[in-house]
Amino acid sequence: MSKLEIYAPDIYRPNLSTSKILTFGDLAAFVVKPDLCCLCGGCVAVCPPQVLEVDERSSEGAQLIGVCILCQLCPLACPVVNPYEAPIDKPLGDYIEYGIYKAAEHELWKNATDGGVTTALLEHAFEIGLIDGAIVAVKDEEWYAKAVIVTNPKELRKYSQTIYWHVPMVTPLRTAIDKLRLNKVAIVGTGCQTAAAKLTERIPKFKGKIALTLGLFCSKTWRREEFFRIVKEKLNIEPKDVNNILVKREVIIRLKNGDTKIVHLEELEEAVFGSCYVCRDFTAEASDISLGANGAPDGWNFVIIRSQTGKQLIESALKSGKIIKSTEKPKVKFVIKRATEQKLRGSPFQLKQGT
Ligand code: SF4
Ligand code: SF4
Ligand code: SF4
Repeated sequence: MSKLEIYAPDIYRPNLSTSKILTFGDLAAFVVKPDLCCLCGGCVAVCPPQVLEVDERSSEGAQLIGVCILCQLCPLACPVVNPYEAPIDKPLGDYIEYGIYKAAEHELWKNATDGGVTTALLEHAFEIGLIDGAIVAVKDEEWYAKAVIVTNPKELRKYSQTIYWHVPMVTPLRTAIDKLRLNKVAIVGTGCQTAAAKLTERIPKFKGKIALTLGLFCSKTWRREEFFRIVKEKLNIEPKDVNNILVKREVIIRLKNGDTKIVHLEELEEAVFGSCYVCRDFTAEASDISLGANGAPDGWNFVIIRSQTGKQLIESALKSGKIIKSTEKPKVKFVIKRATEQKLRGSPFQLKQGT
């Protein structure tokens, strides 16, 4: 093993690569039952007879709702069985460059959780024909979230907030391809979701259909019911009172009445999804572009450009004035520290973590 390929040993997380994960029965036993399913919906999208389901309102994980024909496709799209992660020596994964960016248009970033770059890039990707559809998360007044397919870029601004629960972002991919006949789909999501989207391309029907993945920095997500139970107990806040949520070293809850409340991450520990306890992908390493608030000043995004597609999109968006780049140096050491901490998850060296 070369110096650049040192992985933390998997003592506390299962090594699924050595298991025989062939059908959904195996996924159910080794991923769903031990609470490792991240509800990404990758298996649901690729299942030919459409007998799998992920209910976005429950935390149960993928379920079989019909007769499995044992085609063995679903495990190929599962990010838990096929984790995408660089060695600990490359805490940010593979990338071309990084920097601090925000949307140029004030209207765009003032409504976003932070710099508004995700929405600006999606709008620009539509404008230049890079994508013909995007799968994004949407929440209702009660903060229930689901994934929707957007084909009209004018609709994107309705969905510019970050949601901190598992959402089956990959499930709509089949509808996007089969019913809407889309050929160049973008997916915005956490590392597990963008990794699952890329994994679907192992199946011929989906090959070449994922035109862009925008990955959000992520150290954990919470079960919605548990999150709001704790927040109600501690701060007497109801879901409908919340305008937006920002996760940095603590959870910043901005209310519709203009107040801001803080919850410490440790206080929400009970609400964290099981899959996040063994996830080593803080910076969404499988994405074309990764983005987060960490390492950037308030109102800006730390952006990691990983692929040529991502680089061309950023350059084009800069040139057209859709996004702007800060001359300020990003706090990359801080992001590296966070990413390194996460790469120790599931190992004996696991550290206590913030976000
Ligand atoms: S039919 Fe294939 S993809 Fe669907 S659940 Fe069974 S093995 Fe998985
Ligand atoms: S593909 Fe996603 S939804 Fe399906 S079992 Fe794996 S983690 Fe769960
Ligand atoms: S911590 Fe990992 S498994 Fe959990 S939501 Fe984030 S990317 Fe997915």
